[in-house]
Amino acid sequence: MAELEGLEFGKSDFVLLDEVTMEQFMENLKLRFEKGRIYTFIGEVVVSVNPYRHMDIYGKENIEAYRGRELYENPPHLYAVSDAAYKAMKRRAKDTCIVISGESGAGKTEASKYIMQYIAAITNPSQRAEVESVKNVLLKSNCVLEAFGNAKTNRNDNSSRFGKYMDINFNFNGDPTGGHINNYLLEKSRVVQQQNGERNFHSFYQLLRGGSPEMLEAFHLQSNPALYVYTREGTSSNDRSNHKAVMTALEVIGFSKEEIDSVYRILATILLLGNIQFESDGEDVRIVDLDAVNHIAELTATEPDNVSKGLLYRTVATGGGEVIEKGHSEQDACFGRDAFAKALYERLFGWIVGRINSVIEVKDYNPVLHGKNTVIGVLDIYGFEIFDNNSFEQFCINYCNEKLQQLFIELILRQEQDEYQREGITWQHIDYFNNQIIVDLVEQPHKGIISILDEACLTVGKVTDTVCLDSMNTKLAQHPHYTSRKLNPTDKTLDFQKHFRIRHYAGDVTYSVEGFLDKNKDLLFQDFKRLMYNSANPVLTEMWPDGQLSITEVTKRPLTAATLFKNSIVALVDKLACKEPYYVRCIKPNEMKSPMLFDDARCQHQVAYLGLLENVRVRRAGFAYRQLYARFLQRYKMTCEYTWPNHLMASDREAVEAIVTQHGFQDDVAYGHSKLFVRTPRSLFTLEQERAALI
Ligand code: ADP
Ligand code: MG
Repeated sequence: MAELEGLEFGKSDFVLLDEVTMEQFMENLKLRFEKGRIYTFIGEVVVSVNPYRHMDIYGKENIEAYRGRELYENPPHLYAVSDAAYKAMKRRAKDTCIVISGESGAGKTEASKYIMQYIAAITNPSQRAEVESVKNVLLKSNCVLEAFGNAKTNRNDNSSRFGKYMDINFNFNGDPTGGHINNYLLEKSRVVQQQNGERNFHSFYQLLRGGSPEMLEAFHLQSNPALYVYTREGTSSNDRSNHKAVMTALEVIGFSKEEIDSVYRILATILLLGNIQFESDGEDVRIVDLDAVNHIAELTATEPDNVSKGLLYRTVATGGGEVIEKGHSEQDACFGRDAFAKALYERLFGWIVGRINSVIEVKDYNPVLHGKNTVIGVLDIYGFEIFDNNSFEQFCINYCNEKLQQLFIELILRQEQDEYQREGITWQHIDYFNNQIIVDLVEQPHKGIISILDEACLTVGKVTDTVCLDSMNTKLAQHPHYTSRKLNPTDKTLDFQKHFRIRHYAGDVTYSVEGFLDKNKDLLFQDFKRLMYNSANPVLTEMWPDGQLSITEVTKRPLTAATLFKNSIVALVDKLACKEPYYVRCIKPNEMKSPMLFDDARCQHQVAYLGLLENVRVRRAGFAYRQLYARFLQRYKMTCEYTWPNHLMASDREAVEAIVTQHGFQDDVAYGHSKLFVRTPRSLFTLEQERAALI
């Protein structure tokens, strides 16, 4: 039990609370935070509060302290849960996963990095070169992914704008042999537009601020981000040094010189694209600055004429099978340009992830020779988001969180149940708010919001966002978690034409339907795809395989963005569900990024929607603690005359019974096949105090 620190730091496991109330929970959380104890257990779950300052708890000696130890033997820490996941994987050949959740800025990504560092530090003691190189690539990949996938937002200066799930593969020795990264829904709208005070992805500023003068000249760029429409917002001080680090990381991972050059050429292309403007004399639309077109053509190894054409026209197949070129309106041209810029970036990001995967992919693994290949997955995915203006992206992100919450409920309950069953112990069911109803609201075939959106996107003719909202209002009128102004006319905070509201498990979110259909259709004129596919640069061709199709071969109804996202999240949940899960629940203490401030209301809200109280209740309703007989005995044998220094009983179980009876809490326990189960923590706490007094 992790009561090694004394009570002045609060209770290191929430199951030790005298009563499971919000007041007690918050009091303990706050006390620990103020004493610099940022981690607290709920059983095996780690609750973490972002300290917003450097903590001296991640060093070598800390790693050593947790290595190979049991969860309760040390104060709560990410390392404890990492070690538990690792041990389960190694000793029992179980696939495990560590799911890190919490809202933006709560500390998920930092946690995922500490977890990976821990795993890297405790593996490969014999320093085998091929294992070291896998570890190195895994660690270095973070730096690259953050440069291209993170941005400064109003909530977090280094906010991940994509979801990441990383599998690490291990051989029978427990050493990493490879891995695989899945990325989810990069927020590509950020490439062309950012909210006030926010930035584009770090990579752009790193190139402009950190690229050598020769490089910038060759790319027709100037170093000042304010000169580019897409990067008008200010810069931070470490863009330059980060640029170097990213370049080095790309090299270490194994990107060739040509590939690295292509990556930066694409970034330059996007910046130049953003500055392209159109003018119209009422009939023809023209590009204002033709130099930029030439530069883009040069950077993408294409013909200037084709670049201009792609920006000004689209090829369409008529009903009769005829192929014609149709000029854009000025507005369409702007839309096309931005869609192209976003797609370029999204594909670049996807390609980078794919390249990293090709390097770390497990090769030549022979299960007969090498034993079972086991996996630890680490999930660091966007948390629940409520902004002033919530759009399609928030809708997708919040849906993802509903799915993960559903999984949390399912796994935490299932795990408990499984264990009681395995050990031959009966238990009673605990009630939870089951958010399946909200998951259904979003994803149910034919009836759910995604289906309604998709239908609107596929309808020929002018279906506007508002028309789509009407359709949702009609179809979802009865749903208890859906509302809108039409359904609730007295609610003046909702706009008739614009808003719908979902009562999420984490709170109410009002979404504005403006742009939903465009974002869901995610239209990119086919001409751009062909342009890129036909580039003389093989890297671009590789990124745009679908540009191969001629206009008449193009599928008319590609999957929508929402459906693609749903499919990827369903696949993710399936992946997680078959692993033994470990959880890190991150809490953001305040909105100021301040190291000292514990905003009670904000924290309480997070505790509530993360379901942490229910988590404690479930943990306690069954049995707060369980321990293998031998382990229990080893820890507490000195507290009982019959077991110290050694017992003479027939089994460890009987010896444990002797300890329990001597301390008078025999009514508070159940004896499983291999473990002792203790219902209330108090019993164990007494024992723990007695032990402390003796040693
Ligand atoms: P999230 O991924 O949940 O959005 P991050 O992990 O990026 O949040 O954390 C946001 C910021 O908070 C980090 O950039 C860092 O400054 C700070 N932070 C988070 N976790 C820690 C930690 N364990 N120690 C110190 N600072 C932290
Ligand atoms: Mg993050």
